Amino acid sequence: MEKVVIIGTGCAGLTAALYAARANLQPLVLTGTMPGGLLTTTSVVENYPGFPEGIDGYELMTRLQKQAERFGARVQFGTVESVDLSRRPFAVSIDGDPVETQTLIIATGAGHRHLGLESEHLLDKKGVTYCATCDGALPIFRNQPLVVVGGGDSACEEALYLTRFGSIVYLIHRRDQLRASKIMAERTLAHPKVKPVWDSVVTEILDVRQDKVTGVRVKNLKTGQETTLDCAGVFVAIGHVPNTALFKGMIDLDDAGYVVPAKGTATNVPGVFVAGDCSDRVYRQAITAAGMGCAAAIDCERYLAGLNQ
Ligand SMILES: Cc1cc2nc3c(=O)[nH]c(=O)nc-3n(C[C@H](O)[C@H](O)[C@H](O)COP(=O)(O)OP(=O)(O)OC[C@H]3O[C@@H](n4cnc5c(N)ncnc54)[C@H](O)[C@@H]3O)c2cc1C
Repeated sequence: MEKVVIIGTGCAGLTAALYAARANLQPLVLTGTMPGGLLTTTSVVENYPGFPEGIDGYELMTRLQKQAERFGARVQFGTVESVDLSRRPFAVSIDGDPVETQTLIIATGAGHRHLGLESEHLLDKKGVTYCATCDGALPIFRNQPLVVVGGGDSACEEALYLTRFGSIVYLIHRRDQLRASKIMAERTLAHPKVKPVWDSVVTEILDVRQDKVTGVRVKNLKTGQETTLDCAGVFVAIGHVPNTALFKGMIDLDDAGYVVPAKGTATNVPGVFVAGDCSDRVYRQAITAAGMGCAAAIDCERYLAGLNQ
């Protein structure tokens, strides 16, 4: 039987693995379909502390895995298909293989909602991005017109953040008013660099032939008219989908599917802890996910110490 199973090898899961391994718990760590997590999909990470020149996302996660393995973490390629948290020890099915564990750390992350356009997919990381905090300061976006798609608090935050870099920030929203909180909406619309584009959706991101973003084609839903806006970047901010379907009905989730911790990183099921973006609808950064992973491992270690004394 395992002492700790960690689901996920992003910043949260691997940091939890490092701490659990150093506490001599030999955690079993499952990669899922994205070993290294979301950060492996980006090139340079410029805001992870300790790397003044920035570091390649894939390299950062490879180093973090090696660091955890050095202390005894066992990273295994595999996806958790189901869990039974109603029994002790917990039962976990990994690609059909049953494993029993005293504790579980959920670090399954969250995916971005996509517009669903082929051009969005083809220009991903070539001007299309899902995180202004991560990418907004890149040279390609400086003093250029930029587009944010969305109308909630996140879209407003992205738009305001991008006013520091872009020459103008178009905020494209499908309705005629923002969904964001009143104060956030007012602050955003009052900014001289933010230009709202109401009742509109992006129908195509240009220009796939040039292999970079040069503009967007926008359709007004009320008039049906299509126009083109020039821009160097498209920031899609239409929400996230936490990877938590597996735990529905067992672990407390909010209306968007994020895990709601009961206390610290502990969930409503004693012995199950959570870390990273699957429980974070606010920050969603590598360093915050890593911090939560550290906290989850410490909480888990203390829980096990209490069980086994
Ligand atoms: C393009 C891009 C660029 C970014 N750039 C930055 C940046 O510059 N700076 C920054 O701070 N943040 C950045 N971020 C955000 C950062 O990547 C995330 O905040 C961070 O990866 C969250 O870590 P996590 O461990 O919570 O989840 P993730 O990194 O999403 O990892 C989730 C892990 O869970 C696994 N998993 C999911 N379901 C299962 C299952 N059923 N069984 C087993 N495993 C499972 C996945 O395979 C994966 O290994 C960026 C994100 C993107 C998409």
